[in-house]
Amino acid sequence: ERRNPGQPEFHQAVREVADKLIPFINKNPKYLAASILERMTEPDRVISFRVTWQDDEGNVRVNRGFRVQFNGAIGPYKGGLRFDKSVTLGTLKFLGFEQVFKNSLTTLPMGGAKGGSDFNPKGKSDNEVMRFCQAFMSELFRHIGKDTDVPAGDIGVGAREVSYMFGQYRRLENQFTGVLTGKGLAFGGSNVRKEATGYGSVYFSREMLATRNDSLKGKTAIVSGSGNVAQFTAEKLIQLGTKVLTMSDRSGYIHDPEGIDESKLNFVIKLKTESRGSLEEYVKEYPNATFHKDETPWGVKADLAYPSATQNELDENDAKKLIANGCMLVCEGANMPSTIGAIKEFEKAKILFGPGKAANAGGVAISGLEMTQNSMRLQWSFEEVDEKLQMIMKKIHDKCVEYGQEEDWIDYVKGANIGGFVKVADAMLAYGVV
Ligand code: NDP
Repeated sequence: ERRNPGQPEFHQAVREVADKLIPFINKNPKYLAASILERMTEPDRVISFRVTWQDDEGNVRVNRGFRVQFNGAIGPYKGGLRFDKSVTLGTLKFLGFEQVFKNSLTTLPMGGAKGGSDFNPKGKSDNEVMRFCQAFMSELFRHIGKDTDVPAGDIGVGAREVSYMFGQYRRLENQFTGVLTGKGLAFGGSNVRKEATGYGSVYFSREMLATRNDSLKGKTAIVSGSGNVAQFTAEKLIQLGTKVLTMSDRSGYIHDPEGIDESKLNFVIKLKTESRGSLEEYVKEYPNATFHKDETPWGVKADLAYPSATQNELDENDAKKLIANGCMLVCEGANMPSTIGAIKEFEKAKILFGPGKAANAGGVAISGLEMTQNSMRLQWSFEEVDEKLQMIMKKIHDKCVEYGQEEDWIDYVKGANIGGFVKVADAMLAYGVV
């Protein structure tokens, strides 16, 4: 607390990892002697900068930009950029810390980083977003590079923002390289990148269910969020025969007892990516559904839950409601959506719980493959990348089982934390005291 004041989310993320790691480290004194965990909780580097831009009325606006290069032991830094009014250094440190473990779990050579700004894209015109992105990149470009640090999208940073930033990077450096991922398909993007986090989360849940000889077909699901991750979680669930009952946004949640099917989902995608409106619109289009203002969907009865909006959106009481309603699986599409209290409830009930750093690693994995394709200057087909995604999610699941298998259940939190830790820790040990 004294060392990192005012960073509660960072403390939470470290505590969750340390809980599971300390007993393991105590059994492996080489990590203890080299103070590996202490070193891993201190970012390699934190960059903070001013972003000055002009709004449509000609007013000069000032935001704060960050890049937290957390750990580069096993590859170039990699992790998304978040544009949201709530962004602080503490938020980005929590996300960067998690990213180190996640990237290691993907089996690809990527270090962990995160960045962003307290810029609020809500209500901004296209031109304002463009000017902000260009101003942001005008400083960030000197700290990143295809072999140094490769940012991507996150909350508030989708295809539009990545494109503006890539355009600016190209202009400043006069280089067409894979310095950002999540690019458009016409300029170096990868097939399946857009879908990867959501699809990957569903593939991970399929693996979890298989350990109990169960499957997704015929189940009901709660999905929270309606952004990139939630949209493609819902899409894959629908394709695999699961009935999706809910989606949510900052204004509340929708409950559609008939199920959100492909065409209703397309309505949501259009609403969120084109007109950027509230989910309240959904019930005007589909009156059999209900809209619950300012509420989260965890009280709806369903077999499966996919929190896919933001951190700490599901607390201990929500966890109790889910369990009381017979929910058998929680799969985190978002980063740290469940509080520590909620995770304790899932562990007590021994339901299948897939933590974000494992379950949502599909996005960064395909970003890694986007980097590979950029280096090779070619583009793999949708089917090819989708197959690789399924294989990677299976490998991540195997790793969680390897380190998380307990007598009568699989502790995926422990499995993901230790599984992600070992490779990074071994690389750091090999480098000596640096
Ligand atoms: P988007 O910006 O595309 O969507 C975010 C969604 O969550 C929106 O529906 C948004 O509502 C909702 N939301 C955001 N903040 C809040 C809040 N404070 N309360 C309630 N709802 C909120 O982001 P992504 O889908 O990309 O990211 C979602 C989560 O997944 C994040 O935790 C992110 O870190 C994580 N993640 C994303 C990856 C990716 O590839 N994109 C990869 C791995 C993890 P509204 O529409 O009203 O803004």
